[in-house]
Amino acid sequence: MAAIVLKPGREKSLLRRHPWIFSGAVKQVDEEPVSGGTLDVLSSNGDFLARGFYSPHSQIRARVWTFNPDEQVDVDFFRRRIRSAVRTRDIFIPLQKGGGVAVKSTDSLRLIHAESDFLPGLIVDRYADTLVIQCLTTGVEYWREPLAELLLEETGLKNIYERSDADVRELEGLPARAGVIRGEVPSTITIHEDDLKFLVNVVIGHKTGFYLDQRTNRQHVRGWAKGREVLDCFCYTGGFTVNALAGGAKSILAVDSSSDALSLVRENIELNNLPTSQVELLESDVFQVLRKLRDEARAFDMIILDPPKFAATASQAEKAARGYKDINLLSFKLLRPGGILVTFSCSGGVEAALFQKIVAGAALDAGAEVQIVNHLAQASDHPVALNFPEGTYLKGLVCFKIT
Ligand code: SAH
Repeated sequence: MAAIVLKPGREKSLLRRHPWIFSGAVKQVDEEPVSGGTLDVLSSNGDFLARGFYSPHSQIRARVWTFNPDEQVDVDFFRRRIRSAVRTRDIFIPLQKGGGVAVKSTDSLRLIHAESDFLPGLIVDRYADTLVIQCLTTGVEYWREPLAELLLEETGLKNIYERSDADVRELEGLPARAGVIRGEVPSTITIHEDDLKFLVNVVIGHKTGFYLDQRTNRQHVRGWAKGREVLDCFCYTGGFTVNALAGGAKSILAVDSSSDALSLVRENIELNNLPTSQVELLESDVFQVLRKLRDEARAFDMIILDPPKFAATASQAEKAARGYKDINLLSFKLLRPGGILVTFSCSGGVEAALFQKIVAGAALDAGAEVQIVNHLAQASDHPVALNFPEGTYLKGLVCFKIT
């Protein structure tokens, strides 16, 4: 049997059930498997610790499929894991009653969240009748064909599009790949969230096409938007803008640097029969726009800051902190008393406590008196396995500016 033997004392994280084995912890590889092939992880004494897959090119030399010595890694294993992940969603995604039948409030959600669903490197997002998958590790790449079959069997769907074009594949020695795997997939899919619709471009969109992780936060914004002048920064395809408009916002200025994204904002507003006249779309750099708005002494009643990832790892946290401080400080200045700042960080390298500290520093420097009224996070279809804290990435603060 292929096996990785760890150096003495390096089994601690595995005993805590963390699923990664770093190259520095490896003493030797016996009967070296192919990339993505299954192997046992043994302590320096030869005790079984876990069964996982091999990544010869990555710093993370192996990842765990199972900690159970009696569990074989085969098609049935993956069927059990997929079934369990899908079942969790059935429990936690809110139901809304309609016509006597319980209907889901969304037809689009994340079905599999990689390590946090005990399938390291597999992301599966459902957009209406289409699955979009990302195979981000060698193990998932190795099992890609059976996984595709199982996903169709377990969901009853026919269409799969692959977006294995994320940068992290490079670290695994895997080339980028994208395209239809099964069935027919239009480039733009219409999804339903509550009573709203969104167009999602699964071919050129970010990640797999849409920020599903912000679903519950969009609902909050909708609830607070009535009568407010809103500034939506980093608006992408308008998830927050459309919700704010549906919630009765007085006006919205939506800013993004991507013209592709902005053209979908307009289409998404029209798709929902909401008034475009109240919305101004601005293709520009948010850092510059915020300064310009400050210089023009503009003011808003609600500001949303949902920037891209500034820091993937803790080593980039300092530079990221400057970016967050800058946009939050300017936003506190632009906010009227009684205004709401909904501010996010999706940087894995910036922990919640640090993010709160940065936002507090920004409020102080802006001379604003501010309360946190809500802590926000990724939606429940993006769970975090307790043995895998790295699965927490999205954190948000809802700040109320008193003066
Ligand atoms: N709020 C969005 C997701 C934002 S993703 C939603 O809920 O759907 C981050 C967005 O920031 C992307 O659309 C990207 O085009 C944009 N972006 C990145 N850097 C930017 C910058 N400096 N100025 C303006 N937009 C930027």
